Amino acid sequence: MLIEIKDLYKIYNEGKESEVRALDGVTLHIDRGEFVAIVGQSGSGKTTLINLLPRFLEPESGRVMIDGRDIRDFRLGSLRSRIAFVTQDVVIFDDTLRNNLTYGLENVTDEQIREALEAASLTEMVAELPDGLDTRTGDGGSLFSGGQKQRISIARAFLRNAPILIMDEATSALDSESEEKIKDALIELMKGRTTFMVAHRFSTIEHATQIVAMADGVVQETGTREELLVKNGLFAELSRLQALEHPGDFSDAPAETATEVQA
Ligand code: ADP
Ligand code: MG
Repeated sequence: MLIEIKDLYKIYNEGKESEVRALDGVTLHIDRGEFVAIVGQSGSGKTTLINLLPRFLEPESGRVMIDGRDIRDFRLGSLRSRIAFVTQDVVIFDDTLRNNLTYGLENVTDEQIREALEAASLTEMVAELPDGLDTRTGDGGSLFSGGQKQRISIARAFLRNAPILIMDEATSALDSESEEKIKDALIELMKGRTTFMVAHRFSTIEHATQIVAMADGVVQETGTREELLVKNGLFAELSRLQALEHPGDFSDAPAETATEVQA
């Protein structure tokens, strides 16, 4: 879907001593099917920005339009049905795996569940469970590893089949190796959707059509990875920090980029 974000301001605790201008005039234009990666230091406003889309928060001013329509003109349920979330903290209810996958949805067929499990690379795991989809997950889903929970969250997003996908540091709890394993599932999930990914490791955003680099509630720069590396501004700087913290993550980068990043 086409998303236009116009001059958004979000201020927490306005007028108090603890006032924070979390978004200080953010404007973005996102075409249908774009993969938007949002990067920036902790506290730069990334989560605030994406939480405004499903109206988990209201801005002090500015607006968000989806396909030309202000999000305040949608019924809330209708707006939220267009958006699927994959987040870091995956909530697993003490219920069957099936109900964990389909909660909030009606008339989900076994075939649809099978497809979602396949796309999220969970088919084998489910086959090994004592009662398959009817296995009870137990409190907090202790049955599953971090990577499996992340995949369950991806399968949920497949089943929701929403045109807008939001991932907020979705894979940050995983190590690079586990992240690499679910990368294909994420790429599959993103197909045909407009995606916002708040990226923790930059290796996941090489295919982003637009990188949004934020600092102090302001969009400092936007562009593709190549454009922003050449520009040598905030994104290039964050990439260098990233390369220091996670040296292995750039092993798939083109040689000249790797050199540039480490320079
Ligand atoms: P990021 O996701 O980039 O780390 P956030 O959007 O979470 O950034 O936070 C942006 C700024 O707003 C930070 O200074 C943060 O401390 C502040 N902030 C976030 N949520 C709240 C809140 N509920 N109340 C007050 N301040 C908040
Ligand atoms: Mg955040």
